[in-house]
Amino acid sequence: MQYDFIKLEHRLKKELDEDRYQHTLGVMFTASALAMCHGGDIQQAECAGLLHDCAKCIPNDKKLKMCEEYGIEVTPTERKAQFLLHSKLGAYLAKAQYGIEDEEILSAIRWHTTGRPNMSRLEKIIFIADYIEPRRNKAEHLPEIRQLAFQDLNQTVLRILEDTLHYLDRGKGEVDEMSRSAFRYYYNLFGNPDDKGRSLTE
Ligand code: FE
Ligand code: FE
Repeated sequence: MQYDFIKLEHRLKKELDEDRYQHTLGVMFTASALAMCHGGDIQQAECAGLLHDCAKCIPNDKKLKMCEEYGIEVTPTERKAQFLLHSKLGAYLAKAQYGIEDEEILSAIRWHTTGRPNMSRLEKIIFIADYIEPRRNKAEHLPEIRQLAFQDLNQTVLRILEDTLHYLDRGKGEVDEMSRSAFRYYYNLFGNPDDKGRSLTE
């Protein structure tokens, strides 16, 4: 599928603040590099990367209202931490406003914040690219995770989920149950039973 990236970028630039737009470009380029490395579809990865945060700059109360209006289900956790809604709403808007029909892209946008068990390659690529893109600098272990991303997608997803849950469990934010399920799934399949990650599965 060919996408009109110039048009998509032009539109997004109006929807996002400058920092978010720069992050978006970082995710797009990183996702395309990961697709090159791991044998994914490059255009699909670029498109999903470009649109993944398309709903991010909508004010939280408006996000909630839009979800109600479009019949998008809002969980109690999302009601408490409304920024989580930007993934669901983003997937909806990518289709309704940006004309993206590819369900794999929409799903990668849908799950980019929490992850989920048994992600597709594209879902993993976007989840990872969002975490490691060049402008990110706050997370722990970024240099190792960036290297690992170009070696093994599953190990990288596990590592990111583990670090994210540790961070959130220290009281830094709301944990979505889906992130825990995703962690358990990747830990059971790809984790090392001797490491500290085990405590998180309980
Ligand atoms: Fe996001
Ligand atoms: Fe993002």
